[in-house]
Amino acid sequence: MEILPKAITNAIESLSDLPGIGSRSAERLVLNLMRANSGLDQKIARSLGELKSQVHECETCFHFCESNEKQCVLCRGQNRDPHVLCVVESPLDLIALEKTHEYKGLYHVLHGVISPLNRIGPQDLRLAQLFDRLKKNPDIQEIILATSGNTESDATAMYIAQEIQPFFIGKISRLSRGIPSGGDLDYLDIGTLSRAISERRDF
Ligand SMILES: [Zn+2]
Repeated sequence: MEILPKAITNAIESLSDLPGIGSRSAERLVLNLMRANSGLDQKIARSLGELKSQVHECETCFHFCESNEKQCVLCRGQNRDPHVLCVVESPLDLIALEKTHEYKGLYHVLHGVISPLNRIGPQDLRLAQLFDRLKKNPDIQEIILATSGNTESDATAMYIAQEIQPFFIGKISRLSRGIPSGGDLDYLDIGTLSRAISERRDF
């Protein structure tokens, strides 16, 4: 016997499919939604429905941008330093770095890390586009490998450094040792992340 109606169970199961949301959180979200003001469920459904149609990846850095724009606001920004390129795993990390107001250069979003266990290889990330971008932009003098502090992130940074070494003559740097091992950038407090980027070290 099901304790909850099918529609509620379906909603809980769909939300639990998201990484980072366990079944308990999904249950709470859905049951709160049942209690919320009328219209909130429709509003949420509408905004989620628009995600894929109204957002795509910037053709330069692969951060998310409006589907009617070729480039994101950061790539179009006039006051960004075009000589420094910061490579991050996800838009979440980019947002975390932007919150520090410490970094003024450009970004490249990989959308993941190399992970043999999860069958994610270099071809599944925006790596070919990164190498291409570096080859076409001699203005870029420094590349910061701002992947987070776990084994797969380190291995991904190492892979990038090895691949670009033959053609990239600029500086390759890494966030300072302030990043706790295994810590995602977006979980760090602004002060720690600020220091990690300002005190970055050579790779
Ligand atoms: Zn962009």
